[in-house]
Amino acid sequence: MAVTEPVPVTAGDTGADEEGWVPLGGSAHEGILRRQALRESAARTYARSLPIVPVRARGLTIEGADGRRYLDCLSGAGTLALGHNHPVVLEAVKKVLDSGAPLHVLDLATPVKDRFTTELFATLPAELARDARVQFCGPAGTDAVEAALTLVRTATGRGGLLAFTGAYHGMTSGALDASGGAADVRVARLPYPRDYRCPFGVGGDRGAELAARWTESLLDDPKSGVPTPAGMILEPVQGEGGVIPAPDDWMRRMRQITAARAIPLIADEVQTGVGRTGAFWGVDHSGVVPDVMVLSKAIGGSLPLAVIVYRAELDVWEPGAHAGTFRGNQLAMAAGAATLAYVRENRLADRAAALGTRMLGRLRGLSAAHPSVGDVRGRGLMIGVELVDPSGEAPHAPTPPADPVLAASLRQQCLDRGLIVELGGRHSAVVRLLPPLTLTDEQAEAVLDRFADALAAAERAHRPACPAPLRPVRPRAAHHRNDTGPSH
Ligand code: PMP
Repeated sequence: MAVTEPVPVTAGDTGADEEGWVPLGGSAHEGILRRQALRESAARTYARSLPIVPVRARGLTIEGADGRRYLDCLSGAGTLALGHNHPVVLEAVKKVLDSGAPLHVLDLATPVKDRFTTELFATLPAELARDARVQFCGPAGTDAVEAALTLVRTATGRGGLLAFTGAYHGMTSGALDASGGAADVRVARLPYPRDYRCPFGVGGDRGAELAARWTESLLDDPKSGVPTPAGMILEPVQGEGGVIPAPDDWMRRMRQITAARAIPLIADEVQTGVGRTGAFWGVDHSGVVPDVMVLSKAIGGSLPLAVIVYRAELDVWEPGAHAGTFRGNQLAMAAGAATLAYVRENRLADRAAALGTRMLGRLRGLSAAHPSVGDVRGRGLMIGVELVDPSGEAPHAPTPPADPVLAASLRQQCLDRGLIVELGGRHSAVVRLLPPLTLTDEQAEAVLDRFADALAAAERAHRPACPAPLRPVRPRAAHHRNDTGPSH
């Protein structure tokens, strides 16, 4: 089936397109969703809030079997740096398919893998790239987290781990233990600095400073109950935790604290990597060079791929210490190499930084008129809007309580307007925007118009007494056709 450039339309536009491609139709769409609900696990997630049956996609736009089109600001949970089906990705995949190269090669060397590794190393912080090793892991981010934990435990001979409140590292057991919801005795939990809902009640530089001091005191107090750990794992911007960017100074402090105590620093860049935050890697903002980087999502150019890259001196584990059948996905490596190169050559990290700043500015503008917008934050094109109940009582806190019901309603109102967003954060009250880095100015405006419109509708439905927005929301219709055009 040919993929055409997206023609932005709202939910409900179900006609055949200019190529004459006719949607499967409402009943096929309904049938597929019904069978999914009957057959698939209760643990399914996105499928619950997004009753979409995607059949075509390009750039920012995704089209369901019922012919509805959506602007996709979930981007495969931050995977699609170049959006759906970018031509350079499709071309790279086709080239491998047409070449007769084997698709499954375990962890053997291939020209495709060689190109991927070369391209990856070209993007790494120079100090790390000079003498880095790469381990190809099982296909998911969580596999790479497990590999990183095994690596540092083997290299240091220690078992414990330092991890942060609000962290998310994956769903396999080691990664889960390191995540904020877990209670593993080998993991000491440290405060991650945040301005909004700062655990010390002060926020800003002072809050980050106190978080760093707490970390130091735990490590240096012989009676803290925290023995010197095998490593510290952190996200440069917490994604699932609610889009919380770490201050650069705090990142540098974590680097100093760990370096001074010979504790390997692991940067989980699964979500922050490949330009997403406005620098190629999240650590680049602070200039921190970690000992281990955990990479997945965008590095596979929309296909499953995960690696760790680390300093050569840590490379003391035995052959097979971390293995897996699916470490040689040639299509993912080709798609990933093309994506890395495209992001680098087209300076898409800079683009994400500039556009992200503008989007944050406009979203912050909304908060003036909408008291239920408690906080707007992010870095680059990793953006979060925390919804609160402004009239609610928050015990022991100067900030109002999170409002997950309003957040869920806003997500639905967005969907009704043809905009896909997701929720994150401690209480699932943070609406997250992770658009592709190829987003055009016009597309960004269209996304924000729909978001603003949905916010007003969600508030009206949720709290009818809420004051109306101070300034009118621009009508969506006037922007649709041009403003959501293809980015490539
Ligand atoms: N680390 C981070 C920072 C993530 O955001 C995620 C996924 N959202 C993971 C690890 C786990 O990746 P995967 O779902 O591919 O296992």
